[in-house]
Amino acid sequence: MGKKEIRKEKIPVPERSARERIKDFKEVKLGYTPELAIEEAKRCIQCPTAPCVEGCPVRVPIPQFIELIAEGKFVDAARKIKEENVLPSICGRVCPQEDQCEKVCVVGKLGQPVNIGALEAFAGDYEAKVGVEKPKKAESTGKKVAVIGSGPGGITCAADLAKLGHSVTIFEALHEPGGVLIYGIPEFRLPNEIVYGELDVLKELGVEVKLNYVIGKTKVLEELRNEFDAVFIASGAGLPYMLNIEGLNLNGVYAANEFLTRVNLMGAYRFPDYDTPVFTGKRVAVIGGGNTAMDVARTAKRLNGVEEVYIIYRRSEKEMPARVEEIHHAQEEGVVFQTLTNPVKFLGENGWLKGIECVRMELSEPDESGRRRPIPIEGSNFVIDIDAAVLAIGQGPNPIVMEGVDGLDIGKWGQIVVDSETCKTSLEGVFAGGDVIHGGSTVIQAMGDARKAAAAIHEYLFEN
Ligand code: SF4
Ligand code: SF4
Repeated sequence: MGKKEIRKEKIPVPERSARERIKDFKEVKLGYTPELAIEEAKRCIQCPTAPCVEGCPVRVPIPQFIELIAEGKFVDAARKIKEENVLPSICGRVCPQEDQCEKVCVVGKLGQPVNIGALEAFAGDYEAKVGVEKPKKAESTGKKVAVIGSGPGGITCAADLAKLGHSVTIFEALHEPGGVLIYGIPEFRLPNEIVYGELDVLKELGVEVKLNYVIGKTKVLEELRNEFDAVFIASGAGLPYMLNIEGLNLNGVYAANEFLTRVNLMGAYRFPDYDTPVFTGKRVAVIGGGNTAMDVARTAKRLNGVEEVYIIYRRSEKEMPARVEEIHHAQEEGVVFQTLTNPVKFLGENGWLKGIECVRMELSEPDESGRRRPIPIEGSNFVIDIDAAVLAIGQGPNPIVMEGVDGLDIGKWGQIVVDSETCKTSLEGVFAGGDVIHGGSTVIQAMGDARKAAAAIHEYLFEN
């Protein structure tokens, strides 16, 4: 028998046209149908070494779940994924697969890799539609764990510990649970109902979620340590980096976190039906070249009254840290890219932003990050008329939780220092993971930390 011919390109995931989708916040991708999923799954050659698994931070059994999809056993596929990753519908959508599992896929050497992310999302969505199996819970251990933050790390750690029989309480600073999955990732990439579905699983496990509860203000870490047997900190990266340029205080200048929170969490795009407005005017500039910058730009494009949205980035498109897919979607939706451009000052009138002075840049030798260093071209300054600007140049760990805490090791970027194997901090019984230990990281990295921490906490609770 001759060798099986493998299709070189991925089976494309159906998606809505750019013209249609910029009118609303509904999901851009429509996802695979069962037929398309089976066809894509058949592109996997089931290689025995499965390098894709090594590329996944939580070691999802990729060939096994894909084989189940190829056989039409979609619910079994979802359950196989969940042995290692409790949030397949979320990770399948927001993981940077091209830098992780798909990067090392053997089929990718001949053409495009297997679309592992889309298959994972398909399996997760399919199971959610037909009814997720009730999670099993061990007998109560009588031990109590506090989890700070209800984002991907908090959800994962809480689920793992609750299944092991521990009593878990999550403390969430905002008025809705979900953390960055809700306030940071727009619905056109990750619909809120998917996140709420995962939160329902926590409820079934008996996890209590206390909202509007800021650890560091409402209660301090020390109090939690006294009331609980262990604490897991997954409070994320809530501290935005700002540019140190003139005009930063003008009305109309936002940090990306604030802008996205107003729209995604506070429903600003439905103002006046919702109380929180977001002022944009007609022209919005987004400063930065990462995924958050793309999210902001695409969000702004969907807001009423916005006519022009610019991405302003100091290097070229090639150096942009955003996912290629996000850049492509932003361009399809009409976002204008001003690359090799750096803001010099914000210009205002009567306290309101009116424009941004920029300078053209050129690239010289690579710097310590390995990327070519941008340097200003003298005399190339120019002005772009804008009404709003959003800074999306990164963020650091949220410092509130650490305020006034003695004996907690903090690194030079403000991150909590942990043991890399166990996520244990320098404080007895306190563990941490996700953005609060890495600065900006990914959803799946936060979940990987959370799983490690949950295992270490379980062990700790039995030793103490
Ligand atoms: Fe790939 Fe993310 Fe799924 Fe791992 S969790 S297999 S990295 S999509
Ligand atoms: Fe399948 Fe690619 Fe993994 Fe090989 S590396 S098992 S082809 S997904």
